[in-house]
Amino acid sequence: MEIPKSHPRYKSLMKRERVVKGVENGMVVLEGLIAHGRGEAFDYLIGEKTTKHALIAEKTAVAHIITAKNPVLSINGNTAVLAGKHIVEFAKITGAKIEVNLFYRTEARVKKLCEFIRSLGAERVLGEVGNAHIPGLEHPRGICSMEGIYRADVVLLALEDGDRTEALKKMGKTVIAIDLNPLSRTARTADVTIVDDVERAYMNMCALAMKMKVYGTKHLEEIKESFDNENNLREILRQICKRFE
Ligand code: ATP
Repeated sequence: MEIPKSHPRYKSLMKRERVVKGVENGMVVLEGLIAHGRGEAFDYLIGEKTTKHALIAEKTAVAHIITAKNPVLSINGNTAVLAGKHIVEFAKITGAKIEVNLFYRTEARVKKLCEFIRSLGAERVLGEVGNAHIPGLEHPRGICSMEGIYRADVVLLALEDGDRTEALKKMGKTVIAIDLNPLSRTARTADVTIVDDVERAYMNMCALAMKMKVYGTKHLEEIKESFDNENNLREILRQICKRFE
């Protein structure tokens, strides 16, 4: 069905269409539709725009990625169809690696997603070779790439499950999560939680990274140190409560 641009919920409906198409062509699992619906509800509550506190988290995330030794952007089906183009751009600006890493892993879906991300211009996409395992997660939820997530010092993930986020934290990694639900386990476990839509978050981070890549190390370290995830999440919840009033 053609959605008219004048429709008040045009952007949101287009996103929904992309996820539905993702299911039809085998890149997104049915559970991805449910996860998207949960995200939509929270997006409604934050006003469907990047908030001041999301932007602070995005700036902090970029500082972490730029100063990391082996930063990895973890991609799943929803993330790929919603923000693939911007993720490829962000990886090019920052030099971060891209890994397709799936909760519901099948070799066919990993292959399809890797091909899709390459078709968007990525030179290299990790994930097809699952030659390492995240400790504490039963097979195949724990499969990852040795060169990518397993050896990463900083992992940026989106729409992630709380168990896997906790397992990555236990490995000693700095975890950055994009999650519209400020109450999820992922949001509360990550070092930096970006409560924003995954597409908006990556678009903002591309612009920030272009600006920040010339910042000195001291400045970037200061940005990282001045961030308090718990406080930031509390502020976001306060803003949501205000909207109810
Ligand atoms: P947890 O295990 O961390 O408590 P959960 O069980 O809610 O989380 P899922 O349903 O797997 O985990 O996670 C999907 C998460 O992604 C949800 O918290 C949802 O709000 C969020 N989400 C969905 N769509 C988007 C989107 N477009 N941008 C950012 N986050 C999103």
